Amino acid sequence: IKFEQYKLSNEVLEALRLFGYKTPTPIQNAVIPILLEGKNVVGKAQTGSGKTAAFAIPICERIIWDENAPQALILEPTRELTVQVQQEVFLLGRRKRLKVADVFGGFPIDKQIQTLRQKTHIVVGTPGRVMDHIRRESLHLNKVKYLVIDEADLMLDMGFVEEVKEILSRIPKGCQISLFSATLQPKIQELVDDYVRETTVVEM
Ligand code: AMP
Repeated sequence: IKFEQYKLSNEVLEALRLFGYKTPTPIQNAVIPILLEGKNVVGKAQTGSGKTAAFAIPICERIIWDENAPQALILEPTRELTVQVQQEVFLLGRRKRLKVADVFGGFPIDKQIQTLRQKTHIVVGTPGRVMDHIRRESLHLNKVKYLVIDEADLMLDMGFVEEVKEILSRIPKGCQISLFSATLQPKIQELVDDYVRETTVVEM
């Protein structure tokens, strides 16, 4: 199996080549086609499985460069993961010249507000700071078509459940949702049942 079989744009395939990714990992092979079809996904996957590219490739592929508002929001439980994922998404999107902003707590909000004022296709951030920006109206969700909840079980451990629910209740109707978690414990299942419609579950 090769990435070419997914009919990705040359820009994204070139970015994958620069990364040195030749063949999709099992989670990528399971998730990429489903996301490219526009369906919601719940993925049970560990860190190290290649799940970042599994959600980032379909997002980078489908972002419309000309649209002048964030089209994808990726939620991460920690600042470290936010930075790491921002870098991977940026590299995957660089041939399309995609702008990827990161926002997290414990960092001056004014700088982030300035970044968000510039062209931004994708926002990666922690739920608390993301909600902060939404309330200050420095981040608008009205054009968001893709929402990723990464490391959902860690997200709950970090105490972000209310923020995640708040964000889920504010995203536009029809927004594609993907959620990744190392475990699908009852609280995560509850979140999925309450907020995510017609989900395909992928367990690795
Ligand atoms: P992740 O689970 O997303 O944190 O990825 C784990 C590691 O696998 C990262 O270092 C990625 O750069 C790498 N990786 C992701 N997808 C592939 C792939 N298709 N081929 C080779 N390495 C990959």
